[in-house]
Amino acid sequence: MQKNDVVRVTIEDMSHKGEGIGKVEGYPLFIKDTVIGDEVEVIVTKAGKSYGYGRIKTVLKPSAHRVTPRCAYAGPCGGCQLQAMAYERQLQFKEDMVRNNLKRIGGFEDIPMESIIGMEEPFRYRNKAQFPVGKDRDGKIVTGFYAGRSHRIISNTDCCLGVPVNEEILNHVLSYMEENHIEPYDETTGRGVVRHILIRYGFATKEIMVCLVINAKSLPASEKLLEKLTPVKGMTSISISINRKNTNVIMGETIKTLWGQPYITDYIGSIQYQISPLSFYQVNPVQTKKLYELALSYAGLTGKETVWDLYCGIGTISLFMAAGAKKVYGVEIVPAAIADARRNARLNGIENAEFFVGKAEEVLPGKYREDGVYADVIVVDPPRKGCDEKLLATMVQMQPERIVYVSCDSATLARDLKYLCGEGYRLERVCPVDQFPMTCHVETVVLMSRVSNEPCRTVDELHP
Ligand code: SAH
Repeated sequence: MQKNDVVRVTIEDMSHKGEGIGKVEGYPLFIKDTVIGDEVEVIVTKAGKSYGYGRIKTVLKPSAHRVTPRCAYAGPCGGCQLQAMAYERQLQFKEDMVRNNLKRIGGFEDIPMESIIGMEEPFRYRNKAQFPVGKDRDGKIVTGFYAGRSHRIISNTDCCLGVPVNEEILNHVLSYMEENHIEPYDETTGRGVVRHILIRYGFATKEIMVCLVINAKSLPASEKLLEKLTPVKGMTSISISINRKNTNVIMGETIKTLWGQPYITDYIGSIQYQISPLSFYQVNPVQTKKLYELALSYAGLTGKETVWDLYCGIGTISLFMAAGAKKVYGVEIVPAAIADARRNARLNGIENAEFFVGKAEEVLPGKYREDGVYADVIVVDPPRKGCDEKLLATMVQMQPERIVYVSCDSATLARDLKYLCGEGYRLERVCPVDQFPMTCHVETVVLMSRVSNEPCRTVDELHP
């Protein structure tokens, strides 16, 4: 196989990044924008030793699972990978991915898998969007999304994963910029003002937040922007975020409120949250509620339990569980998130939740060593890289009855479950939840219970 070869393949499988995989005489080719079952003609774009990449030339015979993407930019845009695949098939793909990783990496045989929890309406689910602002080839100010693996902006004010009001707001910001000659930021020269437009929408409260990320100390003609935005129904908070650094990090740390409140309010279930421009908050509130309810039911709380919620973010899971537990402790590395967690606990009148700032793999082992802290239930919700082994070692030492693992990467999940099952725990339930329809991400909630009554090895033996 060589670059620029043209070959015919049938797509048999999909990668975790959502590329279709087809084989030519046993040689796998990864092809973007294809669907399992497609017969396609492709141009080989890269031919490595054991696998290669191809670009779709023609679909010779479309898969029975192929659908017309709702968005005209689904191909080039880096946001969605699976829009050309029927939603039911997306769900099956995600469930298979979790099962395969548990088998291949975790070494599990009989997996207690439950059916993936999907969405009834898998579009318009995001409560947050960050739109980059730039210029097109004709010098017109545009906003939209970055093309896959690049910073080229695809002009699109109506992303179908976001809420409809985004379009109205974006058009106001663009016309404000045109009318007042406000330049978009240019990454190559470091000049220009407006970098990104952040919009957040409270699904339960219908409150709207707009925050312009700017490369300046203040926003020129800001009153003109307010004139346009304040009449938008639901507008609650308008602010700027100052980011003068030449960096890929979107938000700058200094926030100035231009109008209204510095935050919006939203609910997940009956718990209320105040969300400021820099707060972390789950982006799909409908599925988040289902995810937390599942985690809560797996935790099996009766009111007597001590729960540790590790990687707790703004304390969302901790607060969700607090009413059913005796005491909840949350641990999170980002100090601002812990400040939000404490404020949200007060806001909801929750008095049995306590939060600690620090690395879970340092805080928990430290508290266990020094204070002998105890847990009936431990919940972990780590980032993609999964849990540090030092943390897993302390968890098994503490011998909680149940461990609830919420994961956004089923490969590292499988690795960590293998460890826990080797140290006295049993896999009880596994349920994937589709938090991000149209993309290849999948969350998984797992329940493990302690089966061994043997005294555990010490942390030092487990993690020398
Ligand atoms: N449970 C929360 C957030 C989960 S996202 C929710 O449902 O909203 C994972 C969180 O882990 C992030 O907030 C991240 O800042 C935090 N984190 C990353 N590494 C960490 C570490 N080593 N120790 C503690 N928290 C960490």
